[in-house]
Amino acid sequence: MSSLRVAGTAVPASSQLFQRAEAVVPGGVNSPVRAFGSVGGTPRFISSARGCLLVDADGNEYVDLVCSWGPMILGHAHPAVVEAVRTVAGDGLSFGAPTAGEVELAELIVERVAPVQKVRLVNSGTEATMSAVRLARGYTGRSKIIKFAGCYHGHVDALLADAGSGVATFGLPTSPGVTGAQAADTIVLPYNDLDAVRTAFEQHPGEIAAVITEAAAGNMGAVAPLPDFNAGLRRITADNGALLIMDEVMTGFRVSSAGWYGIESVAADLYTYGKVMSGGLPAAAFGGRAEVMDRLAPLGPVYQAGTLSGNPVAVAAGLATLRAADEQVYAALDRNSERLGILLTEALTGAGVAHQVQFAGNMVSVFFAETPVLDYAAAKASQTWRYPAFFHGLLDGGVYAPPSNFEAWFVSAALDDDAFDRIAAALPAAAAAAAAATSGRMSESGPEAVAQRNHAGPSLMHDGQGTSA
Ligand code: PLP
Repeated sequence: MSSLRVAGTAVPASSQLFQRAEAVVPGGVNSPVRAFGSVGGTPRFISSARGCLLVDADGNEYVDLVCSWGPMILGHAHPAVVEAVRTVAGDGLSFGAPTAGEVELAELIVERVAPVQKVRLVNSGTEATMSAVRLARGYTGRSKIIKFAGCYHGHVDALLADAGSGVATFGLPTSPGVTGAQAADTIVLPYNDLDAVRTAFEQHPGEIAAVITEAAAGNMGAVAPLPDFNAGLRRITADNGALLIMDEVMTGFRVSSAGWYGIESVAADLYTYGKVMSGGLPAAAFGGRAEVMDRLAPLGPVYQAGTLSGNPVAVAAGLATLRAADEQVYAALDRNSERLGILLTEALTGAGVAHQVQFAGNMVSVFFAETPVLDYAAAKASQTWRYPAFFHGLLDGGVYAPPSNFEAWFVSAALDDDAFDRIAAALPAAAAAAAAATSGRMSESGPEAVAQRNHAGPSLMHDGQGTSA
């Protein structure tokens, strides 16, 4: 990648790469939020990463507060994980037959999360939630699913309605290509609103197979469940013969060694995992009560399969990550997220801009709002147009925050004093830029506005006003 550096020329290597990528990859990226669509500017192409630092194709260093959208709790290129991957890869990459590592990973998950008695490995969080929903429907013989606005469960057709993450970033109500029939069985309710859930069950007696929820929402920004929300979902689903699916793809093995379950201990029927449990390689899982999981093929009639499921290299990375993540690592994650929150609060308060620094476990995010954000409507009503200036202020200062206001910030245990010094140094200018921002074109959402911004591509500038994009 370093050969692509163009020292002495005005065009950065990331811009050149993005231009090439746009010619052959839709939007120049393989997952939408990476395109910087809602913040403007050119995505940084990353050439390497170590510990808490990313290095881009131009040789610029950034303190990483995205951590590959969650997985890298130990930091990048952790020696134990790299060594495990090297060793296992040397023995063959994929067999299409069971391996000991898969058993060990399943045992480790079962050991940590009491309500999970059996686990099936898949390749992505999307596959995990898709399979869990199918299993819930197969188990209950019912069709409807309740999901919450602003929660993202991957790009499963039935779960894209009012989803968070990229769907929120790009202002999409759902996606073309999802048929009416696929969406018709999805009931979308406001997050943190148990009355709405009770009402939906009253209106659809005997029809709702499952409620799926992020164990703590991270895809509309970090929005923790209110104290009785998850427990209330447990009660209501149990009373109505429906399953509760806790999506822990983001929170699982990040917010504690047992994920969000380790914080709240609400026992769901099914759980979904991804990200941390595969240490940065593509693997994910769903699991839960044996009686439900045993409805899966080959024991039961609910079909689910995968050529690369339980891939030995991904499993090795996951096992090495989970084994290395001891009490000190989780204490460091909590400490680092608290430390980040303090710095964010100090800088934004100093700049005099209304804000909420919110936590969901050790996931953090910033909303430009007067009052705490408890649901997607409030997240969308916040002054998201301030975020591009904030983001670019940080990026210019060598800090890589999520390129969307509707995402959580992820810390690693590898953040050190030097990293926090860099964050502290970058924050005042970024906070001042956020305070000075005005609601111009950057505040517009919806596909047209985004398309217009993206069309400008690599030449997009950011001026703290959010207007030049
Ligand atoms: N569920 C949650 C809570 C997520 O945050 C994500 C991705 O961010 C997914 C599911 C989908 O996972 P993947 O991107 O691996 O398909």
